[in-house]
Amino acid sequence: MDTLVPFAVFAFGAILGSFLNVCIVRLPESRSIVHPPSHCPACRAPIAWYDNVPLLSYVVLGGRCRSCRRRISPVYPAVEILTGGLALALWARLGPTAAFAGYLAFAAALVTITFIDLDHRIIPDVISLPGIGAGLAVSFVSPLVTPFDALLGVLAGGGSLLAIAYGYQALRGQEGMGGGDVKLLAMIGAFLGWQSIFVTLMVASVAGSVIGVALMLYRRADTKLAIPFGPFLACGALVYLFFGDRILAFYFGT
Ligand SMILES: [Zn+2]
Repeated sequence: MDTLVPFAVFAFGAILGSFLNVCIVRLPESRSIVHPPSHCPACRAPIAWYDNVPLLSYVVLGGRCRSCRRRISPVYPAVEILTGGLALALWARLGPTAAFAGYLAFAAALVTITFIDLDHRIIPDVISLPGIGAGLAVSFVSPLVTPFDALLGVLAGGGSLLAIAYGYQALRGQEGMGGGDVKLLAMIGAFLGWQSIFVTLMVASVAGSVIGVALMLYRRADTKLAIPFGPFLACGALVYLFFGDRILAFYFGT
C-alpha cells in the first residue's frame, strides 16, 4: 500500500502536467483552456482520451500523431515528467497537507511560466498576479514561511528586481528585464518569503550567466536579450524551495 502512494502522487502530478501543457499552448494565444478539446496542432485531428494519457500515450504512439504521423513535441512528456517529479518531491517534503496543495500550485505556475517564457518571451499576468494573492493565502498554512515574511517577500521580490531593472536601464540605456520578471519575483516572494529573494536571484544570475555565455560562444552572437530570465528565476525559486534552508545556513551560519 505504501509503495502505491508515491506512484499515485507522481501520476497525479503527470496528469496536472498534461493540463499545464494545454495552458502553455493556449494561454499566450488567449484561447480557452477547456474548449475545444485537445487536437493535433498539425492536422487538427481530435485526440481520443486513450491517446491523451500522460506519458504512456506518447510512448505507445512512438511520439507521433495517430492520424498524420507527424512528430509530437517532446516538450509535452517532459512537462509531464517534470510536474510528476515535483509533485513527488513536494510530497516527500510536506506530506498530505494543505501546504502540499499550495506549493504544488506554485510549482505548476513556475513550470507553466517557464515554458511560456521560453516560447514567447512573456510571463502572463494571469498567472503571476493571482499567484501573488495565492502565495499570501498559502503562507497561512505553510510550515516554510509566515504571512509576515510572505508580505515582505512580495515587497522585496517586486522591489529588488525593479531596482535592478532601473539600474540596468540607467547604466546601459536599454531595458534588460521585463515587468513580467518583477511580478514573477513578487509571486516567488509571496510563496517563499523575503529570505528566498537573495537565493533565487543568485541562482538565477549564475545559471543565466553560464547558459548565456555558453550560448554566446556557441552562436558567436550577442544573445543578451535572446534568453528570457523567467525560467532562471523559476529554477532559482525551486532550488530555494527544496534546499533553501541549507543554502542560507551555509552563507549566514544560521
Ligand atoms: Zn496530426
